[in-house]
Amino acid sequence: MKVATHQLRCTECGARIAGSAVNSIFRCPDCNGLYDVIYPWSSLPNGDTPASDSKLPNASALRWLWQERRTSTMSIDQSGVWRFRDLLPIVDDLEHVVTLREGNTPLYDLPRASKALGLDWILAKHQGMNPTGSFKDTGMTAALSVARERGFEWVACASTGNTSAAMAAYAARAALRSIVFIPEGKIAWGKLSQSMDYGALTVQLRTDFDGCVRVLTELVSRFPIYLLNSVNPYRLEGQKTPAFELLEQLEWQVPEHIVVPGGNLANGSALAKGFSEMHHLGLISRVPKVSIIQAEGANPLYRSLQENNGEELIPVKANTRATAIRIGNPASWRKALRALRTTGGWCEQVSEQEIALAKAEIGSEGIGCEPASAVTLAGLKKLVAQGKVGREERVVLILTGHTLKDSNYTIDYHRGELFTEEENAQISGSDQILHAALRKPPIVLEPDTDIVFRELESQMKLVHA
Ligand SMILES: *Cc1c(COP(=O)(O)O)cnc(C)c1O
Ligand SMILES: [Zn+2]
Repeated sequence: MKVATHQLRCTECGARIAGSAVNSIFRCPDCNGLYDVIYPWSSLPNGDTPASDSKLPNASALRWLWQERRTSTMSIDQSGVWRFRDLLPIVDDLEHVVTLREGNTPLYDLPRASKALGLDWILAKHQGMNPTGSFKDTGMTAALSVARERGFEWVACASTGNTSAAMAAYAARAALRSIVFIPEGKIAWGKLSQSMDYGALTVQLRTDFDGCVRVLTELVSRFPIYLLNSVNPYRLEGQKTPAFELLEQLEWQVPEHIVVPGGNLANGSALAKGFSEMHHLGLISRVPKVSIIQAEGANPLYRSLQENNGEELIPVKANTRATAIRIGNPASWRKALRALRTTGGWCEQVSEQEIALAKAEIGSEGIGCEPASAVTLAGLKKLVAQGKVGREERVVLILTGHTLKDSNYTIDYHRGELFTEEENAQISGSDQILHAALRKPPIVLEPDTDIVFRELESQMKLVHA
């Protein structure tokens, strides 16, 4: 079946090209801008649509179709990305789709966090519940399917860990070869082990993420290797689908706020694109605010907004234990800025101590996430304190990665070994109390019943007191 065509549109100069005409680095040759994928029914910034005679897909027909596909046994229908394929016609032949049944992630409520913050409800959309444990799967299924359709044999990415895990898995499913560039010693072991497990050629470079990107850009310009970093706009087409899935889970009631972590700054804009498209097609009556939270040690967008109102990016030397967002020179910062401006969201930054506390709080609700995901709750606390989020507003945190991605972080936290003394000293008295209640280090005891019972008794009294 031949599905509708798409084009790529430069987000800076507006030039439009055929998808197959894009260069190997996914940058506009005239202005170096990044591309958006557009469809005949898309809404352009000037209010036009690319094909003026094109009919908008029908909102209620789409809702019905998406619902119907949930009971199908076809793999593309079981995928939480391709179930929405009507709004991402990026492959001509659906035979080329590579899927691990990504998406379909749960939406949880966080009653204790809501209560602590004085909000009516906070929900968590757990993208860590994807096949390789992060939201990167939703983008990878889309872009890797395009790579396969275009006949590439090799794919590559630079990664702080999760992109490489996702790419390696999807490439292996499609029998393509994959090359991963990762910063040496600065990624979580859980993620590195995945790319080896899935058979990627893994190259650790003695540099940071931004250094890896530089080398990779050269490589794909010289060899027929398909670039799968998030400058590849097809990834964002997959990454917009959690917005559709979320609204379906909320029975099309639009929440007020979406909070996402910001690293290379593509994901927030992908979700915003999903919401805008739903709005344009009449599936929802307004778009939620999309706010982006960065770690203080990797805060180029936050800084740029503070210092020059987002006119120019101020790259930083990134440093945070939330390795997934340890990026100082984010490629998609202009797209993120556009997402903030079109949805009315904010950009905040949070400290290492605030991230650790939020992560422990999410864990204590039986959910868990990797450190980068916890910036969402930490950032929400700030937005509430600043009066930007009101009590009755419904907030959805996007938890981007699974807690097992970085178990060392969690163990260090609970053993009290995560922070330096200096960092510990910066924690306020009230937060110290919260940390103390959340920390659950293992208790080491002799295997003697009396000793064990006495210890448990004292622990249990402590709880009941
Ligand atoms: C990639 C990633 C991010 C950052 O997403 P960007 O699109 O790079 O901003 C956040 N959290 C996790 C767990 C990730 O893997
Ligand atoms: Zn351009």
